[in-house]
Amino acid sequence: MDKNQNLNKEALLYHSKGRPGKIEVIPTKEYANQRDLSLAYSPGVAVPCLAIAENKDDVYKYTAKGNLVAVISNGTAVLGLGDIGPEASKPVMEGKGLLFKIYADIDVFDIELNTTDVDEFVRTVKIMEPTFGGVNLEDISAPACFEIEERLKKELNIPVMHDDQHGTAIISAAALINALDIVGKDISKIKIIVNGAGASAISCSKLYVSLGAKKENVFMFDSKGLIHPDRDNLSGKKADFTNGHLPAETTLSQAINGADVFIGLSKGGTLKKEMVKSMAKDCIVFALANPDPEITYEDATSVREDIIMATGRSDYPNQVNNVLGFPYIFRGALDVKASEINEAMKLAAVHALADLAKKQVPEMVNLAYGTDNLTFGKNYIIPKPVDPRLLTSVAPAVAKAAMDSGVARSNITDWNAYELELSK
Ligand code: NAP
Ligand code: MG
Repeated sequence: MDKNQNLNKEALLYHSKGRPGKIEVIPTKEYANQRDLSLAYSPGVAVPCLAIAENKDDVYKYTAKGNLVAVISNGTAVLGLGDIGPEASKPVMEGKGLLFKIYADIDVFDIELNTTDVDEFVRTVKIMEPTFGGVNLEDISAPACFEIEERLKKELNIPVMHDDQHGTAIISAAALINALDIVGKDISKIKIIVNGAGASAISCSKLYVSLGAKKENVFMFDSKGLIHPDRDNLSGKKADFTNGHLPAETTLSQAINGADVFIGLSKGGTLKKEMVKSMAKDCIVFALANPDPEITYEDATSVREDIIMATGRSDYPNQVNNVLGFPYIFRGALDVKASEINEAMKLAAVHALADLAKKQVPEMVNLAYGTDNLTFGKNYIIPKPVDPRLLTSVAPAVAKAAMDSGVARSNITDWNAYELELSK
């Protein structure tokens, strides 16, 4: 049996053994005797009910709302597997619940909706708002995902984030800032090629622009070619990234000539060695398509010594992985009861991640990767997912940005105590 077949078998066994699935609900209060039960349920439970009826905000005081995130999908863009439907997306959503819990002690209800209708999706999530402290939208295809997120952000008073868009943007932006720092290039002067014009590509490009990249230096491609003003029927989001500084018929291999940065959020195998060779000195290549990157790590590094390379894979250096972001971004947002996750909070997460990679790596992280020398540089531009300092770096940065930007509904005053609490 080859390695893949082994993994396939193991994965099915992992999910089916014992109680099927990956999550369960556990009571947080004592329930040993009749007295406990009369507090947990009738008649005692009526007291917090009435308190909340009197003051709605008390729902945060007497229920699990404030630490409960809904991970919601309709299964239309699951991993790189495409539209496989809501039931088939459930293992991913449960997995996300597991990651929220182990990295940031956030509880998750995973919710798989049987609809592709935007109005129905939005309405359904909207009426579930009382239950949750936050909403993580997941694996919803473009362009529906843009409208769903925009409308929910407007209509809900709790943080909403479509992780496939913003998670990727935040992590890759942190990696990009650090890569540019290493090669000494100024973000406002670099030429960026973005291959892919879907949910993640659009959101990454937007964030790079808010970090100082010039829109006229960003050339984006979809499956049909350059996103250009002469293209007909471009969806609204793609239209935001039309660039007329090159002719409409320019191919990827022509555009990439002399480019400083390539960001791949498209399909495996779309970037060729020749194209990498033609990039500017000290080029940066983030080939993020999963599971097969636009170019393999071996191929890209075989043609250039000066390259800084990242992929979405854990078996190579510089893994751009959303798990570096969402647990801690929601942790920070929940802890100040933020009404939304805004640009300031996302930028705070970017800088917290970028800064953390420059600090000395704890022994346990080195050990986990079988090395003793992870240090900031070409092969270590972003923190590793097992780094326990992610929680105490990113969550406070996000919480503080929420407070400073006026979307926090409760304040943290003692930051040392907060960090201590987080690391318990
Ligand atoms: P998506 O919304 O479906 O977008 C895919 C985009 O790629 C579309 O714009 C599509 O063009 C374009 N495309 C397809 N084939 C192409 C080609 N040969 N040349 C140029 N563009 C091509 O998907 P997504 O959620 O943005 O994800 C895209 C990829 O990035 C997936 O492989 C995903 O696994 C990966 N990803 C990785 C991470 C990470 O952290 N490593 C995070 C998010 C996503 P059309 O618009 O013309 O169809
Ligand atoms: Mg996803």
